[in-house]
Amino acid sequence: MQDRVVIIGAGIAGVRAAEMLSPSFDVTLINNEPYLPYYRMRIEEVVSGSSPESLFMHPAKWYEDKGIRMVSGAVLRIDDEARAVYLSDGASLPFDSLVIATGSKANVFPLEGSRKEYFSLRTIEDAVRIREVLASSSSATIIGGGLLGLELAASIASHSGVSVSVVETAPYILPRQLDGESAALLESLLKDKGVSVITGAKAKGADESSLFLEDGRSIPSSVIIFSAGVHTDLSIADGTRIKTGRGIIVDSFLRTSVPGIYAIGDAAELDGRLFGLAMHAREMGSAVASLIMGGSAPYIPSSPSSMLKVGGLDVASFGEMKGDPIVREGERSRRTLFVEDGILKGAVFVGEKAPASVKAMIGKPYGGEDGI
Ligand SMILES: Cc1cc2nc3c(=O)[nH]c(=O)nc-3n(C[C@H](O)[C@H](O)[C@H](O)COP(=O)(O)OP(=O)(O)OC[C@H]3O[C@@H](n4cnc5c(N)ncnc54)[C@H](O)[C@@H]3O)c2cc1C
Repeated sequence: MQDRVVIIGAGIAGVRAAEMLSPSFDVTLINNEPYLPYYRMRIEEVVSGSSPESLFMHPAKWYEDKGIRMVSGAVLRIDDEARAVYLSDGASLPFDSLVIATGSKANVFPLEGSRKEYFSLRTIEDAVRIREVLASSSSATIIGGGLLGLELAASIASHSGVSVSVVETAPYILPRQLDGESAALLESLLKDKGVSVITGAKAKGADESSLFLEDGRSIPSSVIIFSAGVHTDLSIADGTRIKTGRGIIVDSFLRTSVPGIYAIGDAAELDGRLFGLAMHAREMGSAVASLIMGGSAPYIPSSPSSMLKVGGLDVASFGEMKGDPIVREGERSRRTLFVEDGILKGAVFVGEKAPASVKAMIGKPYGGEDGI
């Protein structure tokens, strides 16, 4: 009999692991969403009018052909002694190896005031709901000026004719990806696209028509969407010996504290770090499959990079913003390279496309701008 691998969560990490493990193992992929697995990072396209189906990673037949058994439902409990998972419909599935790939959830924090409904964008169902409410709304405010928030703001501004604001507590947008000057350029480019950005401001309360800031300002907001980070739902580990911190704690072989149980993707915490990026989720899906197949190479996360279009504008960030900035400005573009002790530590591009070669050059000796 083949070893049974059960994978909880059919996001990019879980699907990648299933793809690599099947058909050598008896693979069950548990999907708790009412759609086939899809590219979560593209769900804002559904807000703009695309069909959910256009985001599917693969058609149903692909899973059948690969021998991946897809089971619908949510895992309510893991029994790490009896080595089985229990589903919402009462069914149980025994496993030899278990992969927890349950992703993360959007942070939505309580605000003062009478407002009843807040939104966040994490699933296709969220996207469909946001699209529906925007159709009868005049204004939307996004709480959080990170990658997701800005992408969503620009997309809403360009498609729905709704006036859009972004509220960010940090002094500038994309504080994890950009330096202050690059962020200022992006802010002014976003303003041209109809997105009003309010930085250094904190949401305090809301009623049905406005969002109120701590400094007393109010922003017209018929719709309020939280884009203020994510957290791991740790309840999946309740009643087990699986150790948790901010995520499910794994070692560099993606093993939890219980033998034969692994965690990958957004759900996993490695060396105190949560990842939150599709590239790492996919990498971990591949790595866990290799390890379950008998491989011995530890998982080494690749250097973070983000490349996206915010309302048609290219924004890219690679590596770390450490060292001396070398800046080249165009009329509506800016590139900043960060060099420390002769090594290219990071690079940020706003308003111009980053050359494909940059990612591979991070962490290597910097030989002058011409090389980029
Ligand atoms: C709008 C948006 C835009 C993004 N853009 C980018 C981007 O440009 N670049 C980038 O790198 N990353 C981006 N990300 C982040 C990226 O999508 C995530 O890092 C990635 O999806 C994580 O993959 P995962 O497989 O670990 O988890 P997820 O994709 O979250 O999948 C986990 C799955 O497990 C399911 N699950 C949870 N609990 C259970 C349970 N008990 N039983 C069964 N199933 C369960 C969840 O419902 C979900 O379907 C974006 C995310 C969003 C929401």
